[in-house]
Amino acid sequence: MPGHKTRLLILGGTGEAVALARAAIARFGDRLAVISSLAGATADPVRPPGEVRIGGFGGAAGLRRFLAEQGIDLVLDATHPFAATMQANAVEAAAQAGVPRCRLLRPEWRRQPGDRWIEVDGLAQAAAALGVLGSRVFLALGGRDLAAFAALPGHWFLVRAVSPPQSPVINGLFVQARGPFALADERRLLEEHRIDAVVCRQSGGAGAGAKIDAARALGLPVVMIRRPPAPPPPVVASVEAALEWIAARLPAWGDIEALAPTGPADAG
Ligand code: NAP
Repeated sequence: MPGHKTRLLILGGTGEAVALARAAIARFGDRLAVISSLAGATADPVRPPGEVRIGGFGGAAGLRRFLAEQGIDLVLDATHPFAATMQANAVEAAAQAGVPRCRLLRPEWRRQPGDRWIEVDGLAQAAAALGVLGSRVFLALGGRDLAAFAALPGHWFLVRAVSPPQSPVINGLFVQARGPFALADERRLLEEHRIDAVVCRQSGGAGAGAKIDAARALGLPVVMIRRPPAPPPPVVASVEAALEWIAARLPAWGDIEALAPTGPADAG
């Protein structure tokens, strides 16, 4: 179809998703329309360039409908590594709609000499692990998912999140902030609040990694919540690799010209 642009849906909510939208428009904007989707979890999200839609789709079936109605050609799932439901819905909906889908998943943090990690499978295990690690805890989990820690009334929690925490309120202090965070600031935060232990997800990525470096520098234990199971392929680990996946699925310039009208046909 002349003038038709390939329609890319980016499932977002991460810094990589914004960077990907920017780079995809800069590099392929003449052939590619970018629609970014946000869950609507934060009140003041960073808006990527291009079209933006906000709110859930209504499960895998809703996403499948959206793909058909919006004529989406490619899905790039750049949600957070712990957005397990969206990840699974993207796999199912894209397969059913026959739309190629790729997962952008940043690499995990690697354990380094000096790290004191206690790896656990979920929030309940994380709360249980805290019993012997000291009573002043930095919960680097965002404002949700705090219920498991409410059962530890003897602990004091430093909670940092983009938006104020939802109930239940736990004993401690809330700090509103948006990353990325610098190592010196993370170290100061841990020292100022006399933190004994850090709880976080195995999110990976440089922007969120400074707290791990600060904990290592101070010899503090980190309760590290393991990631949900890996998604099916294709999976790429960087924005650059995601751009290559997109590029390989765009029509070449010659194909676009071949689709364009060539003027009146010869009468013969
Ligand atoms: P989730 O548990 O996998 O998803 C829950 C539901 O939220 C999904 O079923 C979907 O609703 C909706 N949803 C999630 N991501 C969406 C998107 N990009 N566009 C439209 N709807 C979306 O995800 P979550 O852990 O709640 O995370 C929500 C959002 O916050 C994600 O976009 C994620 O990238 C971002 N985020 C999450 C974390 C984290 O630690 N989990 C950290 C930073 C950012 P429907 O079923 O109705 O479609």
